Amino acid sequence: MNVLVINCGSSSLKYQLIDSETEKVLAKGLCERIGIDGRLTHTPAGGQKIVFNDPLPTHVTAVSSVLEKLTDPQCGVIASLSEIGAVGHRIVHGGEKFASSTLLTDEAIAEIEKCCELAPLHNPANLIGINACRELMPGVPMVAVFDTAFHQTMPEKAFLYSLPYRWYSQYGIRRYGFHGTSHSFVSKRAAEFLGKKPEELKTIVCHLGNGASLCAVKYGKSVDTSMGFTPLEGVPMGTRSGNIDPAILEYAAAKEGLTLHEVMNVLNKQSGVQGISGLSSDFRDLGAAAAAGDKRSAAAIEVFCYNVAKFVGAYAAAMNGVDVIAFTAGIGENDPSVRTKVLSYLEYLGIEVNPQTNKLRGEETVISTPDSRVTVLVIPTNEELAIARETVEIVGE
Ligand code: ADP
Repeated sequence: MNVLVINCGSSSLKYQLIDSETEKVLAKGLCERIGIDGRLTHTPAGGQKIVFNDPLPTHVTAVSSVLEKLTDPQCGVIASLSEIGAVGHRIVHGGEKFASSTLLTDEAIAEIEKCCELAPLHNPANLIGINACRELMPGVPMVAVFDTAFHQTMPEKAFLYSLPYRWYSQYGIRRYGFHGTSHSFVSKRAAEFLGKKPEELKTIVCHLGNGASLCAVKYGKSVDTSMGFTPLEGVPMGTRSGNIDPAILEYAAAKEGLTLHEVMNVLNKQSGVQGISGLSSDFRDLGAAAAAGDKRSAAAIEVFCYNVAKFVGAYAAAMNGVDVIAFTAGIGENDPSVRTKVLSYLEYLGIEVNPQTNKLRGEETVISTPDSRVTVLVIPTNEELAIARETVEIVGE
């Protein structure tokens, strides 16, 4: 079955058409500047990237343009829309309602709407994508795959904040965690790669991309994760602060003459490695600048690696041991020096790095030595494929 995977943001929409039998990507692309002027980049498998300047006033026109490209005699990959068997939607927040992916019925959509309060920037945009697809592909089954669902197995001791309990019971203020589709995919794949069952392993997944989070996966289930009520918590990220003393908010607001909202904006968009370096949120730029002697870029990398290592230590404690550490996402897959720095703090766990295999980028590899007490892997994540698999599982072959 061909599954159309949709990741809809407020002004953008990413898509992939995946053949679920072969797991090949038939075409992929991105609609940008929806509601502004519009730009659609479409890449059929084995072909060149094509840029269209279709006006995209609404998400419905964006989805309509995508469907047009997919069925176009020149750049298309299917003859008609009837060849799309199902649509899988990436949904950011499923609250406590969704512990797994779900078929998008009217009731499920109403429940996702209720979660908008928890993810006001993301869920409404995700819902717009769902509605646009429903309008243009009536009758095609659709599935919601949530970033939060995998973490619903966390025990209370991991998800409760030490705040008035009523804030949790009345407002749902608790740790939800994000990147769940990636943590689930990578932990499963890590086990498969090692010829083991997920139920046999204590795994720590380090999803280190522009957004970064770690997850303690004990015997196949998420038991703790570094992102929290929002994706701002945890390790420092490209532009997000990660954990800080909450008292800084009031102090910095007073010093800088900012509102709470403006301080939150700084924490989300001008902090992390971008904030420390003052140069870039991209580790390629930071690595080059640090090598050329830029001290703040070097400090940004150090702060990042140190904090990632501290979370690994915390999760080894949370699970009372660790068998596998898996690095994934942009930095985790492609930056051997970050991996080396993180692992240099973890020798006490009996970790030995293989400097030869650690040089590799973006492929499934064991980067620890055979004697290492913990197996360290690089496992490229593939959230679109994970969404396509979930979709097929729910709608049936
Ligand atoms: P997201 O999906 O959160 O936007 P990605 O997982 O695509 O992020 O990661 C993007 C980040 O990965 C970039 O900002 C950059 O810091 C890092 N990255 C990508 N390629 C490399 C590379 N070759 N070397 C070092 N870092 C890289």
